[in-house]
Amino acid sequence: ASHFLARARDHQSLGAFLAMDEDVTLAQARAADARLATGSARPLEGLPVAHKDIFVTRDFPATAASRMLAGYRSPFDATVVQKLADAGAVTLGKLSCDEFAMGSGNENVAVPAVGAAAPQPVRNPWDSTRVPGGSSGGSAAAVAAGLAPAATGTDTGGSIRQPAAFCGITGIKPTYGRISRHGMIAFASSLDQAGPMARSAEDCALLLSAMAGPDPDRDSTSLDVPAEDFTRDLEASIEGLRIGVPEEFFGEGIDADVRTAIDAALQEYERLGARRVPIRLPRTELAIPVYYIIAPAEASANLERFDGVKFGHRAKQYADLAEMYLNTRTEGFGEEVKRRIMVGTYVLSHGYYDAYYLKALKIRRIIADDFQKAFKECDVIAGPVAPSVAWKIGEKSADPLANYLADIFTLPASLAGLPGMSLPAGFGAGGMPVGLQLIGNYLQEARLLNVAHRFQ
Ligand code: GLN
Repeated sequence: ASHFLARARDHQSLGAFLAMDEDVTLAQARAADARLATGSARPLEGLPVAHKDIFVTRDFPATAASRMLAGYRSPFDATVVQKLADAGAVTLGKLSCDEFAMGSGNENVAVPAVGAAAPQPVRNPWDSTRVPGGSSGGSAAAVAAGLAPAATGTDTGGSIRQPAAFCGITGIKPTYGRISRHGMIAFASSLDQAGPMARSAEDCALLLSAMAGPDPDRDSTSLDVPAEDFTRDLEASIEGLRIGVPEEFFGEGIDADVRTAIDAALQEYERLGARRVPIRLPRTELAIPVYYIIAPAEASANLERFDGVKFGHRAKQYADLAEMYLNTRTEGFGEEVKRRIMVGTYVLSHGYYDAYYLKALKIRRIIADDFQKAFKECDVIAGPVAPSVAWKIGEKSADPLANYLADIFTLPASLAGLPGMSLPAGFGAGGMPVGLQLIGNYLQEARLLNVAHRFQ
């Protein structure tokens, strides 16, 4: 743990950490050492892990990178944090992310990183003028730069897979409900899902085994399936595996360098004994409008709780209660968060609900059905994670739509609740990493990790 703390201190300019506390981390590490010495070690004993700042923690602040929660401390640990601690993991600190996990570049940050006076975007360790992806950009940057051997992330519409791709690491978003959402600061509850980010599929499998499992008392949407050993199939043969390649993932929008890297990865899979099967996911493009209706709708409801009364920021100046709410929320939320609240409130309002929200729910169902049709013809689906490599910091920050469009390949699996992962598949323009996305059917995480592991 002290090795990683020192590296994190030396690389503060990346902006990856929002909170560190050496005393807390080293005390946990000493307790782990004692267990290792007495032979009572648990599966992840002493493994340093850093958590996305979207998970609430007792021993560290939890801000979701928002002014609204600057300095906030939770009276309890998120289930994910608790489960990893129970398995022996040592917490290195809290990692930057887009505010309330809304974004694709980790540029929407409203609280300062460790060692900094003002908020800053996270930098990509491969090229510090570029974004690390988002919203789990701090997690991806920390793992890629060797500031942490592993990290937690959350993925609502791609926030584990896309930063993993942009930083050349491995990450998996499990089936919706695999991991408890208790203590994850909510963005869009029907989509939010936690997952591990690490250097390999094997490491992700070890972490996922500790993170997954039902949590019926605290998250009613957690699946009633027992925790598994996700390492069990890592070495299984992929001879004869049918890899579905959706035509729609290789259309106009994708950059030539990304397409070349993905093609090469698919050829490598053929050499390993897999078979390529052309498939169709005809509603791929619709995933963008559907997601950007449903996610803001749910966000607008989830963010109602930040009213300045119960916790978090409260405006200093106000004449009455209504103005206290108004000033608190005006000051506390950043631009992108306010945009989502506006869109979400609009699509849920009387007169627009049927035209937008209800229609989006119907198309969401059709997107999920399309995947089931595709899985009749293939075992896993493969394609790019994102249409381009990591862009320059600032390049898209004035254009929300450009950010939204870059989510096209991650949103379909999110809307369907399917497990998806990203693994390094080579390099594209500017020597930047390209991620290969694998999508599996429900609860097929062990299979996905196996297919990824055989490639690595
Ligand atoms: N980029 C998407 C968004 O801004 C996804 C974010 C996420 O998965 N948390 O909503």
